[in-house]
Amino acid sequence: PPFPIIMSGVVQKGFGRGGKDLGCPTANLPDESLLPMSSVTSTGVYFGYAQVLPKTENKALLGEHLKVWPMVMSMGFNPFYSNKELSAEVHIMHDYGTDFYGHEMKVVVLGYIRPELDYTSREALILDIDMDKRVAIRSLDRPAYEKYSTAIPDVLNA
Ligand code: ADP
Ligand code: MG
Repeated sequence: PPFPIIMSGVVQKGFGRGGKDLGCPTANLPDESLLPMSSVTSTGVYFGYAQVLPKTENKALLGEHLKVWPMVMSMGFNPFYSNKELSAEVHIMHDYGTDFYGHEMKVVVLGYIRPELDYTSREALILDIDMDKRVAIRSLDRPAYEKYSTAIPDVLNA
C-alpha cells in the first residue's frame, strides 16, 4: 500500500478560487513536493495530518497553531498545465486566524476518501466537504495512525 506518504514544501499563493468563501481555505504545496504522491494515480480527496512550521517573520503563528492537525487534501490535475501536473491543496482542520503563506508545511497522507466530482451547486460542494471532514476525523481515530498525531516524520524508515 502506498500510504503513509509524506510531503513537505513552502505554502504557495493559489488562484484564490474561493476557498476562504466556502469556509474551506486550502494551502497549496509547490509542484516539486508532490513527487512522493506520484505512485498514487487516483485524483480525489485524501485524509491525513498536517503541520505548519514556524517562521520568524510571522509571530502570529505560535503555540497550538504549530501542532499537528487533521487535514483533508484534494489532489487533481491542474488545468493550468494542460492537466499534466498534479496539484494538491490541503485544508487543515484548525482555526489559525491568519494566513501562513511562505511557511513550510509538512503533510502525511494516510488514506483515500473519494474521487473528485463536478458540482452543480455551492451548497452540494459544501455538504461534501463537511462529510469529508467527518470521514477524515473518524478514519484518523484508528490506533495505527496515532503515532502521526503528535509529530510528522521527515522521511519514512522504509
Ligand atoms: P489560495 O488560492 O491562495 O490557496 P485559499 O482561499 O485557498 O487561497 O486560502 C488558502 C490560504 O489560507 C493558505 O495558504 C493559508 O495561508 C491560509 N489558511 C488559513 N487557515 C487555513 C487552514 N485551516 N487550512 C488551510 N489554509 C489555511
Ligand atoms: Mg487554496
